[in-house]
Amino acid sequence: MSKEELLNEIASKSIQSELYTPIPASYKIGQCKYVVVFGTVMSGLGKGIFSSSTAKLLKDMGLRVSPIKLEGYLNIDSGTLNPFRHGEVFVLDDGMECDMDLGTYERMLDQDLSRLNFATSGQIYTSVLEKERRGRYQGRDVQMIPHVTGELKLRLRELAMKTQADVVFVEIGGTVGDFENAFYIEAVRELALEEGPDSTCFVALTYVLEPPALGEQKSKAAQLGLRSLMGMGIQPHIIACRAGSPITETVRQKISVYANVPKERVFSMHDSESIYFVPEMIKDAQIDKHVIRILKLEDKVDENLQRERWTQWKEFTTKISKAEKKIDIAITGKYITVRDSYASIIKALEHCGAHLGYKFVLNWIDTTDVNDENVAGKLEGMAGVIVPGGFGVRGTEGKIACIKYARENKIPYLGLCYGFQMAVIEFARNVCGLEGANSTEIDPNCKYPVIDLLPSQKGLTGLGGTMRLGGQDIEIIADTLACEILGGADKTRLRFRHRYEVHPDYIETLTKAGLVFSGKAPGEPIMQILELPDHPFFLGTQAHPEFTSRPLRPNPFFLAFTRKVIAQSSK
Ligand code: GLN
Repeated sequence: MSKEELLNEIASKSIQSELYTPIPASYKIGQCKYVVVFGTVMSGLGKGIFSSSTAKLLKDMGLRVSPIKLEGYLNIDSGTLNPFRHGEVFVLDDGMECDMDLGTYERMLDQDLSRLNFATSGQIYTSVLEKERRGRYQGRDVQMIPHVTGELKLRLRELAMKTQADVVFVEIGGTVGDFENAFYIEAVRELALEEGPDSTCFVALTYVLEPPALGEQKSKAAQLGLRSLMGMGIQPHIIACRAGSPITETVRQKISVYANVPKERVFSMHDSESIYFVPEMIKDAQIDKHVIRILKLEDKVDENLQRERWTQWKEFTTKISKAEKKIDIAITGKYITVRDSYASIIKALEHCGAHLGYKFVLNWIDTTDVNDENVAGKLEGMAGVIVPGGFGVRGTEGKIACIKYARENKIPYLGLCYGFQMAVIEFARNVCGLEGANSTEIDPNCKYPVIDLLPSQKGLTGLGGTMRLGGQDIEIIADTLACEILGGADKTRLRFRHRYEVHPDYIETLTKAGLVFSGKAPGEPIMQILELPDHPFFLGTQAHPEFTSRPLRPNPFFLAFTRKVIAQSSK
């Protein structure tokens, strides 16, 4: 049966049919290709890194790529998740609060994504249930197959259409065998059937164990994981093997034989110093070419563009390997045990390090026991201080002590969101003399509420998706550090995620005492950037500049901060 015949057959079937699958109007079967990445053995191994690196290589060949991360959990988005358990909540320009993997995709692809690129089981079930309430299933019992699977296929095809993608990269969160992922796997199996031959490339990411007691790589766990994927009807085309060290020939042969995958498509994705080396590993193993061949996309490859982009990328990765000089930077934080909670900040500093030829050594400071007496000891040897975003009371007094120390001792300071608000509190207390100044998030009855709820937040009852979220324009005041950092621009755009702001009633007191608000929301009294002119580098922003830092285009605020850190420490 040809693709067209299959499509017609599907389309002609009524909702009563077992072949029911909703297809967006004017979607052409087989026009978009799909790469689907599954996890076996365990999660958290880097499906997003493999998927985004391969997508990057294809994008650099001139193909239009669009990634989507499918999460098994029932939450509608990641906004209500604890970063301590799930890693950073990444915010897209359109305000979507999503999994940190979307950050990896945006950085690797140097491409802004939207809520179309992130789905959770919660979202899928919600649309199915809404359709059910509207009578859209015409009397049928609503089932996992075909309705829930159909809804997912619809989402994937809509993504393909709306982004006009040549290739959609589908990353299925978690691991094969998770109950919550089962319908995703079934749906992509059906998708491959419906889209026809050469339409879909299945990649299984697996893990090769190397127990220290044995001192050799063992492939059994990988084999079992792959077997359960095959038991669900998915024959992988490519296997990416995560491991501590390169996969041995024996292991590669075993995996190849047991999983029916030619040996040259069993890829060793062993640990490397930076995730930015992964595209090169994939390229060296020619996995990108295999994907092109499997999907029959040879005609769309622009080799000149590919060469040009590869040269730029190689320059960047060479700089990462060459950056050896080390400088210590302190980052305060409550979630210090989970580095994933600050993934974008770590990456932004890596981008700057590569550009400037330095490795920034990040010293995580738990501020719960920091105070004015011990802060000098805690920050000893630190060439710069960052106070990142955060919520709630814990550790805030310690953060304020760190900011005071950085301000008084002229140590470069970068405050991000909560770090901006803490800098205002510190300045109000210690420079303006407003003793007892605080944020109403920390102390609702404080004497001077210099940080208070945004008017738009008052009276809100729901927690999910209700903060001031996403990309917002910032008006930049002339003749300020912010303006200089942005090369004289009078406006910029950064991403936000907050409920509180500088209380407009205190702006005058703060500015009279020397604090400069160099970035504001256009048309609203929301302060978005602050700085101190009589300090080598003291800058805070209500935004999260870390979300928009890209390997080849580090965020300007991070870049200016790290430049100053280097300049000061080499004095
Ligand atoms: N808790 C603060 C607020 O809601 C800061 C938020 C943040 O750092 N992302 O405004």
